[in-house]
Amino acid sequence: ATPAATMVGSTIAATNGVLFKGADILERAKEIDAIVFDKTGTLTHGELALTDVVSLEDPVRTDGAGIAIEKPDRDAEAFVLAAAASAERGSEHPLAQSIVAGATDRNLALAEPTQFENIPGHGISAQTEFGKTLVGNRKLMRDNGVDPQPAEEELVRLENEGKTAMLVAVEGSLVGVVAAADTVRESAKTTIEAIQKRGLSVYMLTGDNERTARAVAADVGIDPDNVRAGVLPADKADAVDELQSTGDRVMMVGDGVNDAPALTTAHIGVAIGSGTDVAIEAADVTLMRDDPADVLKVIRISEATITKVR
Ligand code: ADP
Ligand code: MG
Repeated sequence: ATPAATMVGSTIAATNGVLFKGADILERAKEIDAIVFDKTGTLTHGELALTDVVSLEDPVRTDGAGIAIEKPDRDAEAFVLAAAASAERGSEHPLAQSIVAGATDRNLALAEPTQFENIPGHGISAQTEFGKTLVGNRKLMRDNGVDPQPAEEELVRLENEGKTAMLVAVEGSLVGVVAAADTVRESAKTTIEAIQKRGLSVYMLTGDNERTARAVAADVGIDPDNVRAGVLPADKADAVDELQSTGDRVMMVGDGVNDAPALTTAHIGVAIGSGTDVAIEAADVTLMRDDPADVLKVIRISEATITKVR
């Protein structure tokens, strides 16, 4: 593009709430074969709300020797939620915030964690008044010697509803399950349909589990085979690389700190609206609004700019 044509393109882009980081980006954006969307915060609002609290314990806990011991709280669900929320106070993850907010809404008294560890992509471990507490996925439990199997039926039920279900263990025993749900952004489905109509493949990338991811993918019209779930933050870039290894040029759309390496790896990285500074920094294009439909604008503006130059 000539500098003048590029200037025109960039100006059009800015008035549409789409910011291209350089002249070459305008050229590159029309070359893509596939678009990969991050799930949470990109296709969904990223505002998680606590939806379920399930206790897996008998009404009276035993100390292992079969002697009944008194529980720290009135009822079993309250115990599960208070223990999970107390532990999650140390985390800034949206899932953690939904659990803490859910407990606060229910007026539960929370403890302050004295020790806290974040296990990226898996959950958290904390020491609180309730004891050593783990909150996270099946892998977190297995890695810590807790068998997640007794919760499997509950997990499957919640995940099929598109919810993120998290296991809660206290002092090495599985005590319950909490779940949080997000809502899909209004324009996600129509945008994905429009992208597919253009002959581009659409993928979803998430750290969330396969079943939840597929339920959300079905809502927005993404093929289940195009869902890459359970991807650890550090592996998101590799997932993009893998798609690109077939020769496809990928546009990655994401919002989070986790997405930054994938945004850099992709042919075109697009940071969405309220995304973190880290994501915006890594991206080639920034969407000023939180609207997936603006991804179509990126392609259209790019195509229009090239046409004018030729
Ligand atoms: P996403 O890509 O959706 O942002 P993450 O990679 O951060 O997800 O986390 C993947 C999974 O690890 C979550 O779906 C959840 O099961 C578990 N997890 C991560 N952080 C936490 C947390 N603070 N509390 C409970 N579970 C968590
Ligand atoms: Mg995200």
